[in-house]
Amino acid sequence: TTESNENRPSVVELADVSFGYTSTPVVEDISVSIDAGEYVAVVGPNGSGKSTLMQLLLGLLEPDTGTAELFGVDATAFDDGARVGYVAQRAGTSREMPITVREVVKMGRFPHVGFGRLSAADWRIVDRAIDTVGMSAFADRRITQLSGGQRQRAFIARALAGEADLLVLDEPTVGVDTESVDAFYGLLDSLHAEGITVLLIEHDLQAVTEHAERVICLNGEIYFDGPSAEFTDSAALARAFGTGAQSLAGGNG
Ligand code: ADP
Repeated sequence: TTESNENRPSVVELADVSFGYTSTPVVEDISVSIDAGEYVAVVGPNGSGKSTLMQLLLGLLEPDTGTAELFGVDATAFDDGARVGYVAQRAGTSREMPITVREVVKMGRFPHVGFGRLSAADWRIVDRAIDTVGMSAFADRRITQLSGGQRQRAFIARALAGEADLLVLDEPTVGVDTESVDAFYGLLDSLHAEGITVLLIEHDLQAVTEHAERVICLNGEIYFDGPSAEFTDSAALARAFGTGAQSLAGGNG
């Protein structure tokens, strides 16, 4: 969208994508291009197709028409999973895994070492990732004993240990207390500053406009795609969320 983007490699490239689980399309004629280093939030009402869009761009769903590319290859054929760190909604609610933060983060190295053992250099990467997300004091704590926000940090550290350069987060702060949400967004801001591409679905419009650079507002089709500062007072916001939503996004209404 700016001329400097022309030399940045494309991470996501959706062209005229339509998809439906049944004969009714859920997303229609979506064209989105995301360059390396961007910080993009996808917003929209419940059922507007946000999760579907994420699955299409990650190659987990195949478009009915149109094309989806991830890092320049067909998204469904993309196989360099370590490049993509996916943090699911309520990643923390699983109670079954009594493993420690360090063990979770270690998994991020598996694509790099195959079934082999981690070298000292791999462990340094693991510990640096834990440090980056501010979880060093909790490295040996079981993830079942962490707060929701801490668990999300552990899952981000796993992505960092894998040296992911695209972080995809699906409503990562659902169930996370307000204080931790601020810290969580501070972490995303610093990862973005380091050059990681951040793509997130978020229901909290205030957080979106404060932190993301670019907003894509979806409601089956794209209502808005542009700088988040322009989204707060856009007609698209009211059109997608109803009048009154502008105050939620910090706009003047
Ligand atoms: P959002 O993430 O914005 O809430 P979704 O992409 O989850 O929206 O859903 C968009 C629409 O697709 C909704 O109407 C939802 O009911 C439908 N849908 C989502 N997943 C499936 C599925 N696996 N099978 C059938 N319909 C689905």
